[in-house]
Amino acid sequence: MQLKTDLYIDGKWVKGDGTIPVIDPSNGEVIAEVATAGESQCDAAVAAADRAFVTWSKTAPRVRAEILRKAFELMIAESDHLAKLTSMENGKVFSDAKGEIAYAAEFFRWFSEEAVRTPGDFRMAPSGDKRILVTHQPIGVSLLITPWNFPAAMATRKIGPALAAGCTMILKPASETPLTALAIIDILERAGVPAGVVNLILPSKTGPMISKMLHDPRVRNLSFTGSTEVGRVLLKESADCVLRTSMELGGNAPFVVLADANIDDAVAGAMIAKMRNGGAACTAANRFIVAKSVAEEFTTKFAKAMGALKVAPGLEEGAQLGASVSIKERNKIAELVDASVAAGGKLELGGKTPEGAGAFYPATVISVTKENPILNHEVFGPVAPVVTFENDEEAIALANATEFGLISYVYSSDLKRAIKTAEAIESGMVAINRGVISDPAAPFGGFKQSGLGREGGFHGIHEFLETKYIGVEI
Ligand code: NAD
Repeated sequence: MQLKTDLYIDGKWVKGDGTIPVIDPSNGEVIAEVATAGESQCDAAVAAADRAFVTWSKTAPRVRAEILRKAFELMIAESDHLAKLTSMENGKVFSDAKGEIAYAAEFFRWFSEEAVRTPGDFRMAPSGDKRILVTHQPIGVSLLITPWNFPAAMATRKIGPALAAGCTMILKPASETPLTALAIIDILERAGVPAGVVNLILPSKTGPMISKMLHDPRVRNLSFTGSTEVGRVLLKESADCVLRTSMELGGNAPFVVLADANIDDAVAGAMIAKMRNGGAACTAANRFIVAKSVAEEFTTKFAKAMGALKVAPGLEEGAQLGASVSIKERNKIAELVDASVAAGGKLELGGKTPEGAGAFYPATVISVTKENPILNHEVFGPVAPVVTFENDEEAIALANATEFGLISYVYSSDLKRAIKTAEAIESGMVAINRGVISDPAAPFGGFKQSGLGREGGFHGIHEFLETKYIGVEI
């Protein structure tokens, strides 16, 4: 497998100030050494993006669209290779990785279509004294920071709209999973993205170097996906230069099973909502809130389906649940489960950390009461706490008892009841009788501390555009 391991600055693959190892979490072995950026490389990336903005921002939208379309086609053609890479560095199983690459590529296709459709507005002012012309312009140099859980999709969900809008950018992938991002940059280069438009750095000192970039007047926009904890820090940093920010942060998704739900459908949906990506998704169902009258049936069937999953290294034939991204992340999951059990949670399945070098954790189901501490944490692993409720009002109150509000799931046979519940839950997205709703054509984002702004859909490109009003005397 040919791997890209250097930084990408101003259209060139360059060495940095050192390297860091990328580890295969299913066995602890080093896959590759990837270059890290020192201060001079970070500065060179900003300078390159700043220079390239002059021409890229004026490049015809059709040209930008065609480059994106070409990148989509290359990603699809090379999806097996990309998925293998993602599975190796992230730990997720190959089928999940293939699904991610297809989803990631769709952001290039969607935004190739959006690049040529940015609407404007021209009309007479109500007073009749002038015309109001409203147009949109690319913001400028954008810093894109992505997490390890979807190394391909979180990058393309930002690069796609940034390129479509006419922005130039610097991508900083998670240090655990830079190889997928580097492979995508290679594709963008081959698709014809001009030098300096897209740059990739992996700072050797993340906090201070990103902080310096956020205080550089050439940088105008920050698009971040990651934890709420880091998002808060970056929002504070961004305040100094009043940067435009887009924040896709943590979640604590409720999965509500109302008393009239079809339980087999709810279990099938729960398996997708919980286990896609081994539970390491901001959209992962994190709290199963189930009507008391159906809780026993749901929990029994759900635990049976969870227990039947084949736990194995991501690239092994038939693997359904791979490793977490690192031993550190796996241990965080184990600690949350141990604390939940210590607080009275009853293990229905799993809950024991396996021996060995791989960062594996088994599928786990725990019955808990509403005071259990696990309900207040994003578990980011294959762990499903189940809590019961008496009536729909209590279900909604439980669902909303969190500072997060990214996504929620509602199961009911009565669409009116499901929609009423969906409207009452404080989250940016609600799935009704489905275990997954992420779609490049739909706005993705959260309420409350799950974030600011929306990615994808018609909204996504506007995260990279400024609105300009021109008053015209006619
Ligand atoms: P994280 O916040 O630890 O890291 C995210 C990125 O920020 C990484 O690239 C990391 O290197 C970088 N980073 C960390 N500290 C930094 C600092 N001080 N300055 C600048 N950059 C810094 O998150 P993670 O562990 O990689 O990802 C998991 C989290 O991401 C979860 O909370 C998950 O819910 C969230 N997430 C949200 C979405 C969404 O769309 N809302 C999508 C995927 C993941």
